[in-house]
Amino acid sequence: MMRIAIASGKGGTGKTTIAASLAQTLSREKSLSVLVSDCDVEGPNLHLYLQPDFKDTKPVFQMIPEVDNETCTGCGICADVCQFNAIVVLNDKPLVFPELCHGCGSCTLTCPEAAIREVPVKIGMLMRGPGKSQINLRQGTLDIGEPQAVPIISALKKWYFPEIPDLEIIDSPPGASCPVVEALRGADYVLLVTEPTPFGLHDLKQAYQVTEELGLHAGVIINRASFDEKGVREFCLNHDLPILLQIPLDQQIGEGIARGKTLVEIFPEYEEEFIDMYEDIKKRLLEC
Ligand code: SF4
Ligand code: SF4
Repeated sequence: MMRIAIASGKGGTGKTTIAASLAQTLSREKSLSVLVSDCDVEGPNLHLYLQPDFKDTKPVFQMIPEVDNETCTGCGICADVCQFNAIVVLNDKPLVFPELCHGCGSCTLTCPEAAIREVPVKIGMLMRGPGKSQINLRQGTLDIGEPQAVPIISALKKWYFPEIPDLEIIDSPPGASCPVVEALRGADYVLLVTEPTPFGLHDLKQAYQVTEELGLHAGVIINRASFDEKGVREFCLNHDLPILLQIPLDQQIGEGIARGKTLVEIFPEYEEEFIDMYEDIKKRLLEC
């Protein structure tokens, strides 16, 4: 199975419609079984394009420490071991801040009085089911007010359909922080979607940095390409980043996407470009 992740340093670059278009093209024209994983758990929206029937759902829980004040001696060891400052001891009483807790369990393990137990707290949901063009979609959704996206992404990536697909397309969250690292981990290739603007270049640099740190192969898609793309081109050239696809700034595309259509539904001729890009990625991976 090949795994292609689609990432961008900021939201609104067109990453999601590119993920949906690539999935539709390869499913329809290359007869590949395609799984799409929407890891943008703070605002998943691939379902708007792929219109799945989410037959399966599953809650995601995080284990949060709870202190038995009768047994606790106030020694402070739990606060010392917590790397996330999620537990502090004030007046010999531990206070847990669930929003900072990463559920690592260190405090529970090191408490000399066994005064800490872990209780499950729901932080989000997973959903999966078949969508348009015989594409299987799975998505994670972080509950409102919950700050920890990483456990949702991690749980989503482990929640497989029974059938192993030919291709998995991962729609990463935007940015360059821990959720992005979690989404990209294990990808064979990362498509970095950018815009030809100074802001786009700034965000491309950050997203590229993540792929470098993870040792992942990457290429670039320039979306809303216009005359002002020198900076992005120079950056790609200097970092040996191939530009695999360019999508022009086009009012018809913008209007179609706003109506819930993917790029290949608006302009079917793009299917050929997506197929060429996929073949190019395969060739590059074989040459590595
Ligand atoms: S380590 Fe255990 S005994 Fe010590 S303060 Fe924390 S909960 Fe209380
Ligand atoms: S489970 Fe880990 S992150 Fe949470 S309070 Fe305990 S040590 Fe800190």
